[in-house]
Amino acid sequence: METASTFKALVVEKTPEKEFVREIRERSIDDLPAGDLVVRVHYSSLNYKDALSATGHPGVTRQFPHTPGIDAAGEVVSCESGAFAPGDKVIVTGYDLGMETDGGWGQYIRIPAEWAVRLPEGLSLREGMALGTAGFTAALSVLKLERAGVAPDAGEILVTGATGGVGSIAVAILAAAGYTVVASTGKEADEEYLRDLGAARVVSRDEVTAGAEKALLAERWAGAVDVVGGQTLAAVLKSTKYGGTVTCCGLVGSPELPVNVYPFILRGVSLLGIDSVQCPRDIREAVWQRLAAGWKPDRLDEMVTECTLPGLEVMIQTILHGGITGRVVVNLR
Ligand code: NDP
Repeated sequence: METASTFKALVVEKTPEKEFVREIRERSIDDLPAGDLVVRVHYSSLNYKDALSATGHPGVTRQFPHTPGIDAAGEVVSCESGAFAPGDKVIVTGYDLGMETDGGWGQYIRIPAEWAVRLPEGLSLREGMALGTAGFTAALSVLKLERAGVAPDAGEILVTGATGGVGSIAVAILAAAGYTVVASTGKEADEEYLRDLGAARVVSRDEVTAGAEKALLAERWAGAVDVVGGQTLAAVLKSTKYGGTVTCCGLVGSPELPVNVYPFILRGVSLLGIDSVQCPRDIREAVWQRLAAGWKPDRLDEMVTECTLPGLEVMIQTILHGGITGRVVVNLR
């Protein structure tokens, strides 16, 4: 594949006043970080973490100028290790991509070949990014519930932050796998969207957190996928049924967890952590295989808003305020 000498990328710069400004610039492949794999990126996506990186959150990115984008899907241009051939289609999520390593919001990335996964049969590059880190994380959460023995007939499974990227895909996967899904949302107007994805019931955030200050709440959930953290996760744990399992991947509400030990020692509830970034390669490949087959949401395309690099500015602000429904795919073709 022929390589362009320069390419377009969104670059975040830290000003002397310590503000963060974003602009689209021409960059050269020579300026990219070292690595044995060069990929021409066709699509990337927008995750909550990308918005944090793009606005200078030090927990994600400390070195500027920087190109965010924790997800990338495209074609291999060159691979010094021989792991991939030019033209191979790959997906890259996690590791350091888009954090301190220039990410998918540029038309080229250069990375260690171990970070890339071959695009599984049954997925297009665009679908790979419609799923992206959010879809991968949702699928990993469902896999962990499954492995913990939470069966489809166990009862209702709650998904918090249900209209967001991880939440939407978790609702769709769980419903497709035969679970009874209850979607918790702050967006009343999106009830129909959530039902279309497969939610059996939609509840408000307030209903989920009601009574969160109590030691324990009535048993309601056989399991849960939580992206919110804080009081929400505490209330979910306190209202999980005996022997149930809750996964925790996010902190859009708060990174704190104000809970006591009662759900664990009186009801045997389990809390499982989800990390998509350093997830071992065998699990990573297994998750992508399931996403390409039985777990690929039927209505994946309906979850997607597509934008180009200039359109990201508005989307970044929207996701930071919890305003995105579904997934944002970035077209870099
Ligand atoms: P989104 O912004 O797409 O979705 C988050 C959703 O949470 C929102 O759409 C909203 O849904 C709800 N929400 C937002 N703010 C609040 C609030 N203050 N209180 C309660 N609910 C709120 O983000 P993603 O789905 O991309 O990511 C979700 C979380 O998961 C993030 O914290 C992200 O960092 C984390 N994450 C972690 C990963 C890991 O490897 N551990 C990987 C990927 C993501 P609604 O209106 O429907 O309630």
